[in-house]
Amino acid sequence: MREHFEIQAQDAAGRIGELRVPRADVTVETPALMPVVNPNLITVDPARFPEFGAEVLITNSYIIRNDDDLREQALDEGLHEMLGFDGAIVTDSGSFQLAEYGEINVTTEEILDFQYRIGSDVGTPVDIPTPPDVERERAESELEETQKRLAAAEGVETGEMLVNAPVQGSTYPDLRESAAEHAYATNLDVFPVGAVVPLMNEYRYGDMVDVVAGAKRGLGADAPVHLFGAGHPMMFALAAAMGCDLFDSAAYALYARDDRYMTVRGTEHLDEMAYFPCSCPICTEHDPEEVRQLGDAAREELLAEHNLHVSFAEIRRIKQAIERGDLLELVEERARSHPAMLDGYRALLDHADQLEETDPASKDAFFYTSTESAQRPEVQRHRERLARLNPEGNVLLSEGSRREEYDASWRVKPPFGPYPRELSQTYPLTAETPDRMDRDGYEAAAKGVARLAALNPDTEFTLAHKGWPASALDYVPPRVDVVDLTLQSESVEDVESESADESDGGSSEE
Ligand SMILES: [Zn+2]
Repeated sequence: MREHFEIQAQDAAGRIGELRVPRADVTVETPALMPVVNPNLITVDPARFPEFGAEVLITNSYIIRNDDDLREQALDEGLHEMLGFDGAIVTDSGSFQLAEYGEINVTTEEILDFQYRIGSDVGTPVDIPTPPDVERERAESELEETQKRLAAAEGVETGEMLVNAPVQGSTYPDLRESAAEHAYATNLDVFPVGAVVPLMNEYRYGDMVDVVAGAKRGLGADAPVHLFGAGHPMMFALAAAMGCDLFDSAAYALYARDDRYMTVRGTEHLDEMAYFPCSCPICTEHDPEEVRQLGDAAREELLAEHNLHVSFAEIRRIKQAIERGDLLELVEERARSHPAMLDGYRALLDHADQLEETDPASKDAFFYTSTESAQRPEVQRHRERLARLNPEGNVLLSEGSRREEYDASWRVKPPFGPYPRELSQTYPLTAETPDRMDRDGYEAAAKGVARLAALNPDTEFTLAHKGWPASALDYVPPRVDVVDLTLQSESVEDVESESADESDGGSSEE
């Protein structure tokens, strides 16, 4: 067990956690956003970060080590004093510079020792950030090298400093998984999923999800996961739902330098803005025209401050969603902001079995708000739980009322499929679904019917549905009798109100 990380609440694979950082003597609540501080180019004074909600920041020890003045100052004063920040400080190692320039002049042992001496709270070895889409051979050999460096990191005397164990493996989910298993088996502490920035820069959120899902499969639940380089608030909810706990944002400053204004739906250019769609202090006190008139430095600082505000607001929104159990509803909303985000969400749902492992069995409400809702882990879980039920004799599965001539009368509800009426008041069958259900919802329900029939070969089933499309009915095996209630006026008339025939089944399916 990794005792420095404790999970407080979960939803999908997302979690609220407490990361104890002993050297800084602070506990960071996750998901947490770490503003990146370039010590050569301070946009917002780190001493002010707590105003925005930052409990942890990340800076680059390689840059500090290679600059005479910064190095002396850091060794002399320590990072906390140098940056004026009392929270936890994570230091990167130069791996990013290695990826950019192909060469750096420091070993894992040297950089970890340096990080320790300048007072870092979480250090990082020099791993090899293998880019996406390389030949498998290269991904494997670079991973081997990264693993040697993790072994070297284990041998460095670092006191109470936590140490990152980066997970590489390019765009091969199985390599990411084995890399994660290896990293998890070390005595290192925090697990960054590395080299995903190129995927995010190219809006390949579907591929990013597959890479992270691979890494998550290889890590224990008590492993704090850092999605390295994920700095846009648009994708925080998606990343959190995959089980990422730490994000770092260089974007807040880099975007501001280019007059770019971040929102949870994407990025706007200051020149094209007539209004600020935000209620942070910057946006309520200024309008875009005013900010355009400012000098470069002032404009950059105000935009960076807004970018931090909007980013931290999204982190709080995510925490509230996890607490409330509607994180996937938030991801669905965000998925509507860009087609690539929709790909990311769809890829996430391809891993519904993985999400299902940590998703709470009971929550407040399930809102069916998109065709993707039909693939949510709750739908899959319901279908799996059908194996626990034993329908016998002649069983009606109906969107309408009970019928006396059957041995049992079950409900059927898209997207979940069939269930005994006594479960009607349990999560997720209390779901709010639209009257105009979509094809995916009907198809998911039909798959539930098919599974129930397959599990109970000696039971006779009749499905009484209300106008399901042929694409859904195609999933229903021929041995199930099918009646369309919308074609039978008599049956439609005797449909009872939903609550009339349901007993209260308690608050859980268990
Ligand atoms: Zn704002």
